[in-house]
Amino acid sequence: MFENIIIEPRRANTDGQGLTRAVLDPLADRGSTVVPIASKRQERPWQGSLSSVDDEPFPPDETCLLCPGGKRANGKTTPKFDVGLLFENDFPVLSPGTDLEVANFSSLPLIEPPHSISQLYDQENDPAAISLTGECWVGVYSPEHDRVMSKMNPDEIRKHAIEMYVTGYNMLGGLIRVGENKGKSVGNSLIHPHIQIYADHKILPLQHGLSLRAQKDWQSRDGKNMMLEITDFELKHRSKDIIYANKDWAFYIWPFGVYPFEAVITPRHHIANMSDLMDNEKKSLAEVMAIMTRTLAVAFARPNRGAEYMMMAFQEPKDDSKYPYQDLYFRVKTYLRQLDLTKYFAVMESMGQYQRDTTIQWWVKRIKKASEEVMKLGVDDEVDLTELSQRFNIASSIFNS
Ligand SMILES: [Zn+2]
Repeated sequence: MFENIIIEPRRANTDGQGLTRAVLDPLADRGSTVVPIASKRQERPWQGSLSSVDDEPFPPDETCLLCPGGKRANGKTTPKFDVGLLFENDFPVLSPGTDLEVANFSSLPLIEPPHSISQLYDQENDPAAISLTGECWVGVYSPEHDRVMSKMNPDEIRKHAIEMYVTGYNMLGGLIRVGENKGKSVGNSLIHPHIQIYADHKILPLQHGLSLRAQKDWQSRDGKNMMLEITDFELKHRSKDIIYANKDWAFYIWPFGVYPFEAVITPRHHIANMSDLMDNEKKSLAEVMAIMTRTLAVAFARPNRGAEYMMMAFQEPKDDSKYPYQDLYFRVKTYLRQLDLTKYFAVMESMGQYQRDTTIQWWVKRIKKASEEVMKLGVDDEVDLTELSQRFNIASSIFNS
């Protein structure tokens, strides 16, 4: 029956060693509740494409939409500004409804898949659609084209970036998603430092919905907040893996992530949303963000342009309810599994289950070393990371060990 197919002998695992292990994701990313860690896969031969390490200093760009004086798509001119500029996205994903009313997100169910043909198609036989109402804003947090966060000192980060997050939360309603895309591997179309703010009015985005539910369930068991308890556990029992912590925040590799690199900044005491940040908490957050962005810029050898990442703040929705189980925390992810190597989400990930090729220890070793070097330069000042990044020489040593 198998005469045309050569079958190699099956590999037997007689001693049970080298089993793939999977961790459980407490925030329940859909499709990744179980995260297999197949770290041996980092060693696999790779004949696919490499990304270039895109770190030439930013050239001045007269065509930049976001520089003061830049021409935007709708014919508007970006005004002169010193600190930050917030404007409605010219190409929004969410559109405002007839009013700015927001749902009560605490009682909103997760959207269920349709269960029948009549739910799936409408009367015109087109896919049945729901309205996604809300607002999309863009926050430009520096008038300078190349002023990435890793070049800012903590004071500047607080004044420009953190106050922008706070303003976005104060100004909008609903479920407020604050995110930043950075770099070529993320498909970032504009290099000028900016963030995206989405305010969902009526529908709970799946990931936020799942994480809200997970945190609520966690708190209902013993009254403790999930993210605070994890932070506390990390600081107490896994302190050697903590990259940096101050009195309000901790920055560490997220042990339950599925992307090749995932880190978090989590609070050490309950802070529900951006608006609740006290001045000293803004200051300490800015310090962590400075250390984090500088560390990643050095670790990923991008001292000029800064590391490529996606960063999102998760926080309490802004409606009539209170969410004592939700803490303000930040997730940071990259598609890069090495300096110049993108992890593709291919057939098994896109149609099966996410899998991670890197272990937390693999990252801790590299990121911690970079952060120690960064901190030697002093945190409060503006620093030039070029020389340090070269000295660190990631390409030949850090990623290949
Ligand atoms: Zn610009």
